[in-house]
Amino acid sequence: ADLDHDALQALLDRLSKDAPRCFNEGKVADYIPALGEVDPNHFGIAVCHVDARVQYAGDALTRFSIQSIVKVHALVLAMQRLAPDDIWSRVGREPSGQAFNSMVQLEVERGVPRNPFINAGALLVTDLLVSRIVSTQYTLREHLRRLSGSDDVGFDERVARSEMDHKARNAALAYLMKAYGNLDADVETVLDTYFHGCSVAMNCVEMARSVAFLANRGVNPLDGSRVVSPVETRQLNALLLTCGLYDAAGDFAWRVGLPGKSGVGGGIIAILPGRMSICVWSPRLDGYGNSIAGRHALEGLVEGIGFSPLG
Ligand code: GLU
Repeated sequence: ADLDHDALQALLDRLSKDAPRCFNEGKVADYIPALGEVDPNHFGIAVCHVDARVQYAGDALTRFSIQSIVKVHALVLAMQRLAPDDIWSRVGREPSGQAFNSMVQLEVERGVPRNPFINAGALLVTDLLVSRIVSTQYTLREHLRRLSGSDDVGFDERVARSEMDHKARNAALAYLMKAYGNLDADVETVLDTYFHGCSVAMNCVEMARSVAFLANRGVNPLDGSRVVSPVETRQLNALLLTCGLYDAAGDFAWRVGLPGKSGVGGGIIAILPGRMSICVWSPRLDGYGNSIAGRHALEGLVEGIGFSPLG
């Protein structure tokens, strides 16, 4: 049986209270100065039930840099606007087993990224969007506002600029795909759009709401609107389970057993299909770029709930 409201709240409060135990490990992403300045000792957790009720604990109302989690929203936008073949002839659906910004497979696989949730794949999805949508940044921002129910969600221009100033590796990925003929648009436009997506600031409550449709067979519980079909929902959750946590996807599936996506800002989303979406945030990262306290809390949450789609 599901935990009732009070029992789940007690669980969230306990996870939040226990989180500082993880604060002596890991470090904040510092590949750009704007992220390196974040106070490392934050922890927030929010769940959004499929009836749109939200429960939260800790710093769940503090906004953070969503970074790679936006790769999910960008892919959803592409699935809404493009035919499946137009997407899946250009990007794969296999776990990479490599770091999020790895170049190795891109060379071996002739410019076709392994999946949409590593940097190369997200740059490719961004290319699909900017090649077809007149104002991709505006459209992506509106998409996030609609999904989260918050009309002031937006870009952190300082983070976006900082990403652009340190673009070398992502630029290399994009230009390599261009060299293989798998990237259509102007590379600098693709990079600028991708970095703006990474720079979006949201809090745990907004983020949990924005992915609640993934727990609700594709319908946004906030307003009843259909985001993707039930089949696409299943496909997205499958991709999240196999590819959502970089080269630690297997370990996360082992420990947590939920489809998920992390970002180097310290956020992780997870989906309990049919029940709820979850967002945790804590900036200290392990060597794979995943939030340590965040993953720990998700393990505790699933244990406390006593149910996962994997048994
Ligand atoms: N902006 C980061 C990058 O492109 C995002 C990485 C991430 O969150 O995994 O390197």
